[in-house]
Amino acid sequence: AKQEGRNNASWYTRGLSQQEYEMTQLRNDLQHAIDTHALELHYQPQVDSGTRKVAGAEALLRWSHPVRGPVSPAYFIPIAETTGQIIPLTLWVLDTACRHLRELTDAGIALPCIAVNISSTHLLRASFVPTIQAALDKHRLRADQLELEITETVLMDHADRALDTLHQLKNMGVKLAIDDFGVGFSSMNYLKVLPINKIKIDRSFIKGIDHNAQDAAICQGIISMAHHLNLRITAEGVEREGQRDFLVKNQCDELQGYLFAKPMNFTDLCSLINQLNPA
Ligand code: C2E
Ligand code: CA
Ligand code: CA
Ligand code: CA
Repeated sequence: AKQEGRNNASWYTRGLSQQEYEMTQLRNDLQHAIDTHALELHYQPQVDSGTRKVAGAEALLRWSHPVRGPVSPAYFIPIAETTGQIIPLTLWVLDTACRHLRELTDAGIALPCIAVNISSTHLLRASFVPTIQAALDKHRLRADQLELEITETVLMDHADRALDTLHQLKNMGVKLAIDDFGVGFSSMNYLKVLPINKIKIDRSFIKGIDHNAQDAAICQGIISMAHHLNLRITAEGVEREGQRDFLVKNQCDELQGYLFAKPMNFTDLCSLINQLNPA
């Protein structure tokens, strides 16, 4: 029995440590990627539904692991949030996105705005607002050339602190967008008090708008509500012409999705904007 117990214990321990090992490994690999600049930033255009020009571009992290290959940010961002690595990661994203926008501007390529995703753990840090100001100063950008995408979850647990930070950013002139709108539960409550410029309707609501009457009704309602609140509205995950036609007809301001462009590297973004936004 003693023997068996020991075997069980070691089997059990090995099972646990395997998972822990994976996490530690991934955290170390991510740190290595940060240190050696092995991450890449891709950009997905946001198209103005009226002018059909590129109104902005969302920066999205890409990590190609030396052994695993591409690792989805949907997988490694939550890990980076628990390890605290999200802070250096986001600093790198901010610096890179701002540098790229400065390059575009210097080259005479018209891109009004660049959007960066911000984790709530980062937003709640005291250093956050100065960090944003420093990035803008370093790359000589106007505050309204930067848009920060935040999710509603930050507001559920730390409403007062988050609101205070958001008001400081708003006063600086930085644009604020609520990401994944509709997925959380606090939406309606906080819309009244949030100093935001834009709502991004989550992809799950866009999915069925061209064939499902309920999705269509919900989406129309969100667009109408946003406009009555003087907010701009972006649709995420537009993949089909039917979805685009519905959104254009219902005056959704900006469209983002594979139908227009997948996230692409900076060089490709430059050529695309050159094509769509002639000077
Ligand atoms: P998100 O902010 O909601 O970004 C949109 C995601 O939808 C991106 O996935 C994008 O590639 C994908 N997408 C865009 N158009 C379409 C479409 O037409 N169809 C479909 N099926 N998908 C589409 P991605 O790049 O894998 O990023 C996943 C998530 O990881 C992001 O969701 C965001 O929450 C997070 N993330 C990515 N980069 C960063 C970053 O730099 N910082 C932070 N904090 N989070 C990031
Ligand atoms: Ca986003
Ligand atoms: Ca989103
Ligand atoms: Ca999302």
